Amino acid sequence: MSESTRLAVSLGRSEPPLAEQIAAAAHAGAQLVELRVDLIEDLAQVEEVLRAARRLPLLVTLRCAAEGGAWRGTERERITLLTALADLEPDFLDLEFKSLRDAPALAALGAVRRRNRPRLIVSWHDTIGCPPDPREIARLQRAAAPAAITKTVCAARDARDALRMLRVLRDGAPAGGRIALAMGAAGLASRVLARKFGAFLTFASPMPDTQTAPGQPTIDELRRVYRWDEITPISSVFGVVGWPVEHSLSPLVHNAAMRDAGIDGVYLPLPVLPEKASFDAFMKLAESESALDLRGLSVTIPHKMHALTWLDERRFPVSDDAQRCGAVNTLIRTKQGWRGENTDVSGFLTGLSTLVDAPAEAFRESSAAVLGAGGVAAAVVAGLRKIGCDVTVYNRTRERGAALAGRFGCGCAPWADRQNAGHDIVVNCTSVGMWPAVDASPLDPFSFKAECIVCDTVYRPARTKLLRDAEACGCRTLGGVEMFIAQAGEQFSLWHARPAPLAVMRAAIPPDNSDAPAR
Ligand code: NAP
Repeated sequence: MSESTRLAVSLGRSEPPLAEQIAAAAHAGAQLVELRVDLIEDLAQVEEVLRAARRLPLLVTLRCAAEGGAWRGTERERITLLTALADLEPDFLDLEFKSLRDAPALAALGAVRRRNRPRLIVSWHDTIGCPPDPREIARLQRAAAPAAITKTVCAARDARDALRMLRVLRDGAPAGGRIALAMGAAGLASRVLARKFGAFLTFASPMPDTQTAPGQPTIDELRRVYRWDEITPISSVFGVVGWPVEHSLSPLVHNAAMRDAGIDGVYLPLPVLPEKASFDAFMKLAESESALDLRGLSVTIPHKMHALTWLDERRFPVSDDAQRCGAVNTLIRTKQGWRGENTDVSGFLTGLSTLVDAPAEAFRESSAAVLGAGGVAAAVVAGLRKIGCDVTVYNRTRERGAALAGRFGCGCAPWADRQNAGHDIVVNCTSVGMWPAVDASPLDPFSFKAECIVCDTVYRPARTKLLRDAEACGCRTLGGVEMFIAQAGEQFSLWHARPAPLAVMRAAIPPDNSDAPAR
């Protein structure tokens, strides 16, 4: 039976004492500890933990500068130290593939070969980018040291490089003796999916500020947010494609919802460079990797229009809402390929309907003001028009407002006319009031009609000044977080064919989400 992928914690400090850090790592769920001797200042502590009884298997790494490490001595000194550490019989010893070809490195390798311990990890790092096909590098590594574990690492430019590294794990023999990771925020998928693809290990850091390589998630993030312990070889994959998406709240809410519903799946941030060509190339790569089992994607700025065009070019179906908005925010895998939706429209209407505890159609012929004319405004206008509202668009840049109004056959008024305009519904789709300008509002206090419903798409902070002012006037309000949850809930239902656990999704958002954009 093959062992499952180890969760390795990488340690690069000697304070608090290494022995304490190892105990804490074991407590947090780590199954292996890497000692980054090039980063750890107190070598005596390294020797001490190698001599002591071991709580967890230990991997010794003395990374040279050329491969992203902090070792500043000569190569000869490095190999001498590595050989001395190998004599203390760590469970694993990292040796760079490039060093393996050099004469001094062979001395260290000789020390390894005399005994079964340490087992050698032959590593290769590209700290600048990723080769088009890193499988070729991994094959050379395996040929040079057939008995060793191979570790192939690149720097990810976007999520495509993370997928390329996963391919290394599927090339030829079972992945058990392989590590393939993409560094940087864009490489996160390779670190999380290492378990699905059967890698030897993945690395995590004990705390947010103790990473020993760019993009390492914390052990807590990996286990609590990315469902590390639950990932299986047949887990389905979901994610959010956009640029940037590193601070997206979508992984928090979708992973929490899948866990609650008992769905074998994981949802990941998938940053893809902004051009349409990058989106197309990402989809091509993801589709070609059938083992990935990519079932659904959230799509955000700047790829919503790219996704629509991509679907149109392939004659895949696109919902009326998405067509009307000119934007797709949800891709659903089907037997025939993909289909596109825009859950910003339905999510907004669901939020409205929940607020009044009646179908959104109850607002037919109500008068609505939409402040703003950007992407979110298009979805809100589409929703309001769909239920028969009489909509007026107010936008700072008049031409942009007129263009949006023209597309949906609604009114357009100057931005200066937005105060006390007497509408039944007001929706702020501008970024006014967003953190850090939390004392700003697009409307003056007391400029609302009695019984008015006031919605703010801004979710950071959750209760904006606009909403606080409206509540003070006795208006019912709908905030950006509720709209975000509602659209995410629609996505969940489309992907998993069941109602979304909305309360669980809501609870997954940190109470103070002021540091994070919603997606
Ligand atoms: P966008 O396409 O860039 O549009 C921004 C809009 O805000 C434009 O209409 C712009 O007017 C207006 N605006 C910006 N600064 C302004 C100011 N100082 N005074 C007046 N108008 C101003 O952005 P978007 O994607 O539509 O996002 C709009 C808001 O929705 C953001 O606050 C975002 O946080 C929020 N959002 C919410 C969700 C959710 O699920 N709740 C999801 C995504 C975004 P001009 O045309 O004159 O520039």
